Amino acid sequence: MARNPIVRDILKRYTQVWALGHSQAVLGWDTETHMPEKGARPRGIALGQLAMMSQKATIELDGLVRKAEKARDLDDMEKGVVRVLRRSLDYYLKIPPELVDEMERVTTEATVVWRTARKKSDFDMFRPHLEKIVGLERKIADKLGYEKHPYNALLDLFEEGFTVRDADSVYAKLIPQSKKLLAKVSAAGVFPSRHPLEAAKYDTGAMEKVNEEVIRVLKMPKDRFRMDVSTHPFTVQIAQDDVRITTRYEGRNFKATMYSTAHESGHAIYGLGIDQALAFTPVADGASYGIHESQSRFWENVVGRSMGFVRLINPSLRKHLPFVRKYDAEQLYLYFNTVRKSFVRVDADELTYNFHTAVRYDVEKKVIAGDVKVSEIPSLWNDTFEDYLGIKPKNDAEGALQDVHWSGGSFGYFATYTLGNVVAAMIWHKMRDGAMVQEALQKGDVTELKEWLGKNIHRHGSTYTPKELQDRVFGEAYNPQRLLAYFEHKYLE
Ligand code: MG
Repeated sequence: MARNPIVRDILKRYTQVWALGHSQAVLGWDTETHMPEKGARPRGIALGQLAMMSQKATIELDGLVRKAEKARDLDDMEKGVVRVLRRSLDYYLKIPPELVDEMERVTTEATVVWRTARKKSDFDMFRPHLEKIVGLERKIADKLGYEKHPYNALLDLFEEGFTVRDADSVYAKLIPQSKKLLAKVSAAGVFPSRHPLEAAKYDTGAMEKVNEEVIRVLKMPKDRFRMDVSTHPFTVQIAQDDVRITTRYEGRNFKATMYSTAHESGHAIYGLGIDQALAFTPVADGASYGIHESQSRFWENVVGRSMGFVRLINPSLRKHLPFVRKYDAEQLYLYFNTVRKSFVRVDADELTYNFHTAVRYDVEKKVIAGDVKVSEIPSLWNDTFEDYLGIKPKNDAEGALQDVHWSGGSFGYFATYTLGNVVAAMIWHKMRDGAMVQEALQKGDVTELKEWLGKNIHRHGSTYTPKELQDRVFGEAYNPQRLLAYFEHKYLE
């Protein structure tokens, strides 16, 4: 609990905002998992009302937060509470409700149009909607205010303090080196570009058993966690001791559901590791999208796609999936780690993934700056993609139309996927270039890894900004060299 009386008062009143967020989280989870189709309309109304109530209750804290901002004796947690609330207040006070409302209407319609446009691979159909969204994004950037580049205002919404300058510096090191690495890995021919197991059909009931084993190996606590099925896998933190994840079963290529389970479990482990003392406060959340993604990528890739993990999960795979039995652990490892140039981000492997986010980052930066028109996006996308990966999308369905993000008004999001990869590799480096991971997996016990992450990252919640947190743990922030070193180690040594 806070020592400072103003912050204590803030936290007492904040319980209302927390309760509204708690309700929104449960309703959101239900919408994606169990709600019948016809429940959508009333659910939308209820969520809209809750969002307005939450906004109102937060704005009422402005006076107290102002007072607390002048206090001199705040500890780290108290400073974090004030900082996080100021960020919410900035958004609510600077963005007029009409603009929020317009964005909501425009994106709801745009998402429906985008689905059809993608199916038909018809960018022109989506273009007028995207033009409106880009216009609104620029307005939001202007209202929020920024230094140097309007895109900075949007990047900051997802990754506090992260700028065009930071992103340019990450990609300038990552992209040319990744190109060279990819050429070397392809030439070496150890990691296959395809594997027969990708086509193997599985029984969903059997695969559920395998995913239960994944969760058991990751030591997910049964009384604080549950897993369900949804169209798009996600994680939602409902309370300190109540985190839910979902996965999906597509019927073939079983690694997809297995690694989505490991990925979302990583997000869940983060949420469950936040200090109990921060419960019900504004800092009982992850530090940023990038830091959250570092946790999911760590468990999915650094742990999950390693030989040690394959050995642990192998008996369960053999037991439940008969078609796996003719492949040994080494072969399974290669199936889990195929490397190939592809057009679709969500199908990309570790080594090619960052090219995909880099394309989107380039396009967004130029469009938001007004250097490129929305109508020019497909050609810019395809040319950049060809420059990075040496292959060119044949149509917009496998190019600029593939992601849902823009139709929902999420500009500034994509870079955080790569930040997640970068920070996961920084953790790998801190864990003695992965030796600590291998030792834990050899023992079949990930407790030490969880404790390390808990002590250094999880327990703080969002007490510190993502950059401060990284400086405390690593003495550096967003260092792409760590990711390149991890790739070298994994793919070339
Ligand atoms: Mg994720």
